[in-house]
Amino acid sequence: MKERIKIIEGDITKLEVDAIVNAANTSLLGGGGVDGAIHRAAGPELLKETRQIGGCPTGEARLSKGYRLPAKWVIHTVGPVWAGGNKNEDVLLSNCYKNSLRAAVEVSARTIAFPSISTGAYRFPLDRATEIAIKETKRFLESDDTIREVIFVCFGEKVLKTYQDLYSTIMA
Ligand code: ADP
Repeated sequence: MKERIKIIEGDITKLEVDAIVNAANTSLLGGGGVDGAIHRAAGPELLKETRQIGGCPTGEARLSKGYRLPAKWVIHTVGPVWAGGNKNEDVLLSNCYKNSLRAAVEVSARTIAFPSISTGAYRFPLDRATEIAIKETKRFLESDDTIREVIFVCFGEKVLKTYQDLYSTIMA
């Protein structure tokens, strides 16, 4: 299990993996943060495709091609907006990871990279979101052999440290 989960600091749009996950919004029409970066790097064809997909409910995931990205696929998932913790945010965020991993399996992706979903503009507390990301991924990999490697791409030192610390605790 430990060899199948990797934590790095960097820009998700640069990764040569089969699939990258986008922390999108329900419109799938692009936005700020990692979503904007992915659309910029993929080029306008991506927006054309996501426009046709026509949106995505919170917690679900939708597949598109990667166009000008090094990644073959983009899995668009919509994280919950943090609203204090009593609006089903934990379950919805777990669903993002589970449904994104399922989408990766659907296209036989062997390597997949995640950003820290919901912890930017959507203000989900970082510690809590990271624990969900790691636990849900671990659970999924325990029951699936398709995916060889999951990479958590941390944007900045603080996110990186949080992932590293919680990873050690959870895997201990
Ligand atoms: P959300 O709306 O789901 O909160 P954001 O894009 O605002 O999504 O933030 C999610 C995380 O993605 C944050 O930790 C942010 O720093 C990070 N992020 C922003 N740009 C990139 C990028 N190019 N690669 C990886 N992570 C990124």
